[in-house]
Amino acid sequence: MITAKDSDITAIHEEIENSWHDQLEFLKELIRYKSISGEERPIQQYIAHYLQNHLYMHVDRFQPDIEAIAKHPGFSPVEWDYENSDVVVGSHYGSEGEKNALIFQGHTDVVSPEPVSLWNTDPYEPTEKDGRLYGRGAADMKAGLAAMVFAYRAIQKAGYQPKSNVMLQFVPDEERTGNGALAALEAGFTGKAALIPEPFGLKAAYAQVGSIWFRVRYDTVRHTQDGIFNAMRLKKGK
Ligand SMILES: [Zn+2]
Repeated sequence: MITAKDSDITAIHEEIENSWHDQLEFLKELIRYKSISGEERPIQQYIAHYLQNHLYMHVDRFQPDIEAIAKHPGFSPVEWDYENSDVVVGSHYGSEGEKNALIFQGHTDVVSPEPVSLWNTDPYEPTEKDGRLYGRGAADMKAGLAAMVFAYRAIQKAGYQPKSNVMLQFVPDEERTGNGALAALEAGFTGKAALIPEPFGLKAAYAQVGSIWFRVRYDTVRHTQDGIFNAMRLKKGK
């Protein structure tokens, strides 16, 4: 149930407008981190520091525990470790606690920008052009991360506090698996609802397809190029 008055909503909207410059700078800073899957720690440190020192949130930071999530049906087996990957959770504890506890969640990892030679700009140097911002992960999903941070900040700056708990969760390893999100949930960071600001063109989706990774090893190489097509033909028996 929404209990905010129109004047409250207007005050929060004004804060969102006023913080546009800061939000853009925050987003640019996120883009500068080369947070390819498995190398998220530095960006997570930056975010943890921001949540603690600018939003005054309680911050938890921990490495995904593979053993703890391995038996979960949502676990993806991995051939790597999480030595350089952290989960970061910023928590606001409201007076009504878990009642309407809301999670905002986003992943901090990006896919490799290679081949970099095909880029017009440096992938890790945010570049504004014609009202758009270019950089690796600018859309997927560092803009979403900035949006969730500044949505919460706007409420706070307008002088309000959510009555229920609010969590801002920043998870690693989404581009390859979903183990970062799973690790956050398994560690007990749950709520009544979750919103993930992935770039879906301002549409809300409540489900999405998953992905399957597989490795095909084959001995007969007809052509050294087009390995994936060769593997497909082999799988189809053609
Ligand atoms: Zn994404």
